[in-house]
Amino acid sequence: MDPQVAEELDSFARSFKDVANRFRLVSKIGEGTFSSVYMAEDMEYDVFDNSWDLDRSPEGKRRLAAADTYPPIAKRQKMSMVPRRKKFVAIKRIYVTSSPQRILNELVLLHTLSKCDSIAPLITAFRSQDQVVAILPYYKHADYRAFYRQLPLREFKYYMKSLITALEHVHRHGILHRDVKPTNFLYDPAKRRGVLVDFGLAERESLDSSYCTCRDYGENDHIRQFTDRQPIGGYLKNDTRPGRRANRAGTRGFRAPEVLLKCLNQTTKIDMWSAGVILLSFMSNRFPFFNSADDIDAMIEIATIFGKPKISACARLHGSIFDTNIPTVPDRGFKLEQIVEWALSGVDGDDESQATTRSLDEEPNRGLAFDLLKKCLEVDFRKRISAKEALRHQFLEEI
Ligand code: ADP
Ligand code: MG
Repeated sequence: MDPQVAEELDSFARSFKDVANRFRLVSKIGEGTFSSVYMAEDMEYDVFDNSWDLDRSPEGKRRLAAADTYPPIAKRQKMSMVPRRKKFVAIKRIYVTSSPQRILNELVLLHTLSKCDSIAPLITAFRSQDQVVAILPYYKHADYRAFYRQLPLREFKYYMKSLITALEHVHRHGILHRDVKPTNFLYDPAKRRGVLVDFGLAERESLDSSYCTCRDYGENDHIRQFTDRQPIGGYLKNDTRPGRRANRAGTRGFRAPEVLLKCLNQTTKIDMWSAGVILLSFMSNRFPFFNSADDIDAMIEIATIFGKPKISACARLHGSIFDTNIPTVPDRGFKLEQIVEWALSGVDGDDESQATTRSLDEEPNRGLAFDLLKKCLEVDFRKRISAKEALRHQFLEEI
């Protein structure tokens, strides 16, 4: 083990006796902006009591038994004949720089959502002074970058089905995950199963009266040409209009247009956009697909695909004006089939290494996959497909 990591595990164990008494730290498995995640063996796990089982219903037991490295739930006499198997957990050490409110939010939401196969359940949590750790079952998974180019579309269906099943559960509880991306979805291609993790940015859908002009439009209303934010012609140097503040939490490249446009009325549909970005990345064999430096760049990237009129209409929906003289932003958008074809043939010239011989032509579900992709990447959130609808989409329905 890297001596630096060994020292980190050691110092964590020394500073957190409750955790060290119960768990034997094995390795470091993740490091993000807000946490470090360690793999550990649970020394107190009681095979017979199934002591991790917060949900003691038969369904809860079945689910925990199915998680990786868990022993099958068996009768005491049967279990006593087999040697004790090791039980592994993921210890998420949330950095003390996170606010207590934010930490509490993550734990409460994890607990609320614990009853779905596709979401990692919270086993327990510990606090020592300002340090909080969440304990989750350990899920064996593969790095998205390592497998996405190898999987055929008919296999990737299982990835999408599992991801959207998790989102449907989250959304049914009126919760937005806000950070849907491959590193937060732990997928095991061999088992065709994934679990959604990282509720650090998740929040409840706003029920308050936070106002965005998109509330004024019915789903089929034509979007007015002008709003309170009139086009100003040219670049305004001393803009005295108040700035807009909205939750923009999430990851670059996965933010929905309404997040970029600072809509105050964000819905669970923002997660479906991110799921669409993952599908686009898979189909085009490129990860990350979007690579912008900031939100303005991100809008331009999206506009380069969908065209200026569509993005202008989307901006107007949220009370903003979108205008650009960048020549690569077309007046008419492109079809996603075209974008994927270009990406697969590496025609943009600046990244020939991405060019691939993989073709989607032979895939019988190609048309259905594009149909779902278009419905996830609908720039108008009101028309974007919901997780519930997506599960009934033909591309996913058959599996
Ligand atoms: P952060 O908020 O820092 O992004 P995450 O909850 O996303 O924290 O965890 C970071 C990484 O740790 C994940 O991308 C994954 O690789 C690993 N990880 C998290 N939870 C688990 C788990 N239950 N089992 C296995 N690995 C996990
Ligand atoms: Mg994460």
